[in-house]
Amino acid sequence: MINIRNISVKCGNCDTYQTLCGFERREDWHIYTYECENEVCESAVTRTLIEVPAELDEFAQRQPGPGDSGPGN
Ligand SMILES: [Zn+2]
Repeated sequence: MINIRNISVKCGNCDTYQTLCGFERREDWHIYTYECENEVCESAVTRTLIEVPAELDEFAQRQPGPGDSGPGN
């Protein structure tokens, strides 16, 4: 299992840790978006997308979103 909270995302440009600011589901993948939150980086430029296989994503499975509870969604 992978828990996104156990992963640190560090920016190679400003050398600080990026902040989790987005999450989306795409087919069998969970996509986490990290951005720099400082004056050094343009967040749109240094944004990092981390793709985790849904079946391995411990963090998202513990926090199911709305509409995930039943079939037919
Ligand atoms: Zn940065």
